[in-house]
Amino acid sequence: MLPRLIRKILFQIGAGNNKMSDTEKITVGVLALQGAFREHIKAIKKSGYGALEVRTVEQLNEIDGLIIPGGESTTINKLLEKYGFREALVKFYKSSKPIFGTCAGLIVLSKKVINNKSGLGFIDIIVDRNAYGRQIDSFEEYIDLKKEQNLNGSKFHAVFIRAPKIKEIGSKVEELGCYKNEVVLAREGNVLVCAFHPELTEDLRIHQYFIDMIRKSKYHKKN
Ligand code: GLN
Repeated sequence: MLPRLIRKILFQIGAGNNKMSDTEKITVGVLALQGAFREHIKAIKKSGYGALEVRTVEQLNEIDGLIIPGGESTTINKLLEKYGFREALVKFYKSSKPIFGTCAGLIVLSKKVINNKSGLGFIDIIVDRNAYGRQIDSFEEYIDLKKEQNLNGSKFHAVFIRAPKIKEIGSKVEELGCYKNEVVLAREGNVLVCAFHPELTEDLRIHQYFIDMIRKSKYHKKN
């Protein structure tokens, strides 16, 4: 990825193939209460965009999209409650700003969690925590990317760490990626989720896809 300034100049002289213009300023927030937030911050910066560690409800006003990272969903849920994030996130979601949940973040955003307290319900999926097996707590595999051209390719090297399984998806949920016939990357409107950790590899395609969702929501662009 070219540095932001070079991309900007290339764009201005009509030589760039990226879609950023000098009027577009995007800040991606990463919920930094617990979990793998630093790696997401790095991935956003590497993609050439602004990143903010979000620790207070007020900071939600400074960002255009939010990532809820992997970690421990029970802890993240408790901290969301403790710091008054629940209502603020509902407001953020209703304002149509994009939200991306990875692993524990997926659990937090889901409609239903089997044998557990339900999530925020921003995406119509039913989730089973730690369902990829206790013995193999962690594994790396190529997943298949579906349909979505913007993901640039058909495979993605995914890191699964005590990952949740998506057991059911609602009719409005798009399947974007699968592993062994199970959906591991999905989207409903402005909410994107994945069961793995895209921030732990060098491949920035999924972060770039999310940033593109933000661009479109912020500037009402169709492409
Ligand atoms: N197993 C964790 C949970 O249920 C999620 C693991 C992860 O985020 N890597 O919260």
